Amino acid sequence: MTENERAARTLKHVLQKPGNGSCADCGADNPECGSCSLGVFICLGCSGVHRSIPDLGKVKSLRLSHWEDSEVQFMSERGNDAMNAVYEAALPVYYYKPTHRDFNLADRPALQSQKITQICLTKTNLCSRDGMLMKRGRDNGQFLNRRFILSLRDGTLKYYTKLDAKVPKAVIKVDTINACFQPDKIGNPNGLQITYLRDNITRNIFIYHDSSREIVEWFNCIRAAQLHYLKVAFPGATDAELKPKLPRSFLKEGYMEKTGPRQTEGFKKRWFTLDHRRLMYFRDPLDAFAKGEVFLGHRDHGYHVTIGLPAGTHYSGTWQYGITIETPDRSFLFTCETDTEQKDWMSHFNAVMNTRMSPQEYTEKILKHEHEGD
Ligand SMILES: [Zn+2]
Repeated sequence: MTENERAARTLKHVLQKPGNGSCADCGADNPECGSCSLGVFICLGCSGVHRSIPDLGKVKSLRLSHWEDSEVQFMSERGNDAMNAVYEAALPVYYYKPTHRDFNLADRPALQSQKITQICLTKTNLCSRDGMLMKRGRDNGQFLNRRFILSLRDGTLKYYTKLDAKVPKAVIKVDTINACFQPDKIGNPNGLQITYLRDNITRNIFIYHDSSREIVEWFNCIRAAQLHYLKVAFPGATDAELKPKLPRSFLKEGYMEKTGPRQTEGFKKRWFTLDHRRLMYFRDPLDAFAKGEVFLGHRDHGYHVTIGLPAGTHYSGTWQYGITIETPDRSFLFTCETDTEQKDWMSHFNAVMNTRMSPQEYTEKILKHEHEGD
């Protein structure tokens, strides 16, 4: 066996270790490259970024490059879990690490400037931000350049329709925001959906920026501002307790049919979004306002979900896989297109209803009456 064959065999062994089976940066399965500068395994997309950073540039292909015994030894002593623990230790708690799922594949190399971001971040003040973003018009669906200002002092995100406007078009309280990357829904690789509450009703805005770096920085700024407010609101809470409240991806989105409160109305197809305990529905995935919203509490407080529709339901829809949700006030009837969708929604509803409610969630439940459009 030559030295190179021996090195290749050992390298295979190192790859089997926990953490090394997915890219250290973006989490994509089966990384194709190794960084001999850092001792981490990364995907081809992320390797481009490593190559572009001086000092981190020593990247090799696992399959095609010649590996020295000493390099394999280096990889073996380090590896993804150990090295990320070191490099990510300094990241602020609000910092969201983008994954390969957040962005379209083609744009991933640009996004993965996060390695640089990670290194610069602790030195940068991410508190407030002022800049232009493309925002989807509510009525015509056209994206237009709008000025956005995030102010940590006011705890608000504002946007203006004209550059020199004195009065903002909207003032969004930072503590009501959820934000998540939605490249497919928005039709842009850097698409970000911002969801917030106004007059107790969920509102959406859809934005993007041509630079993925810009959009990730806006996203992290919103998280930073929110964490600041959460710390004020819950002085005793630890970072670990607060982190799940920061902007997060929705648990599930998709179409179902629903009937109205009297359950004699026809079933209508609606777009549903499950954001932890809030099940919202929209006529169209890109609607600005939710047509309605259902709060999902713990089963001990009268919340239940069952498969199928109650016997005798006057069913007028086209989909046959029913789901019934009971709340203390009433029941909601839904139908899914396939049994796979039905099972998937069921497992999410069950997971939420099996999770104990926090004291804040009780308050939220009282504040947030269920509302229903159609
Ligand atoms: Zn990667």
